[in-house]
Amino acid sequence: MRQNGIHHITAIAGPARRNLDFYTNTLGLRLVKKTVNFDDPGTYHFYYGDEAGQPGTILTFFPWEHAAPGRLGVGETQETVFRVPEGSVGYWTQRLIENHAPHELPQKRFGETVLSFKDPDGMRLALVAVPGIENEPAWTTSDVPAEHAIRGFHSASLLLDKAAATGAILTDVFGFTEIAREGTLTRYKAADTALGGIIDLREAGGFLRGRPGAGSVHHIAFRAENDAVQAEMVKRLAENHGIHTTEQKDRDYFRAVYFREPGGLLFEIATDAPGFAVDEPAASLGQELKLPHFLEESRGAIEDILPKVA
Ligand code: ZN
Repeated sequence: MRQNGIHHITAIAGPARRNLDFYTNTLGLRLVKKTVNFDDPGTYHFYYGDEAGQPGTILTFFPWEHAAPGRLGVGETQETVFRVPEGSVGYWTQRLIENHAPHELPQKRFGETVLSFKDPDGMRLALVAVPGIENEPAWTTSDVPAEHAIRGFHSASLLLDKAAATGAILTDVFGFTEIAREGTLTRYKAADTALGGIIDLREAGGFLRGRPGAGSVHHIAFRAENDAVQAEMVKRLAENHGIHTTEQKDRDYFRAVYFREPGGLLFEIATDAPGFAVDEPAASLGQELKLPHFLEESRGAIEDILPKVA
């Protein structure tokens, strides 16, 4: 069965050290890759995920020390949502309080318990309690035990002026089906995809457009099993939706194309292969600064520019 859904989500952050501390310590994710923005090598690119860095678990950041805060509006991702075991909401509420992370009271959305909170840059995040996942493998830290650890993405919600054209791309190109509506939300699900298999579209006509900055999602990447599936998606976008993607770019850990979807968000299509263990052992992912070949000769200069994080 083809695996669809979210491959990764990339956001803009403020100071690198604070970002690293929040995601690895407070949330207990694994730093699976420490590299630079290939298009802006003076900036880190941090990838957080599960132990193996599977597609559907990867949240990445471009941290800029002096990034101005973004402002949420239409044409942006509203909330990035992780899965946690059903009995872990109390644990996480306590943990967010102890770590001074602003959060809301748990709410029900589509019958599930949702705990919304923000990271130190004001990025909107949430945890959803999912029954039956407590035995799924988990990355554990001295702070966050396996029984409560995050198990990849649950979903992302997109704030749109009008949702129909975006929904058509989800269903026609990315293998999602509309499964439910609640208020202004429409839920789309990729069949048989447990990790990152849900996108919620929130139609909020008349809102201001978003202003990107720290705490904003930069883009959402959807999965393509391989180059052939990616090419097929590119063709469907052009033929059925009149949308043309960029050329394929080699991001070392996946191969990517990008396009602006009708609601204004930047979407990417990323291949599952080769994955994060392509340039360092799976056991020590994220420990060393990895650079693409074309930047290796500038390593010294790049290391001098990057802020110290350890
Ligand atoms: Zn990306």
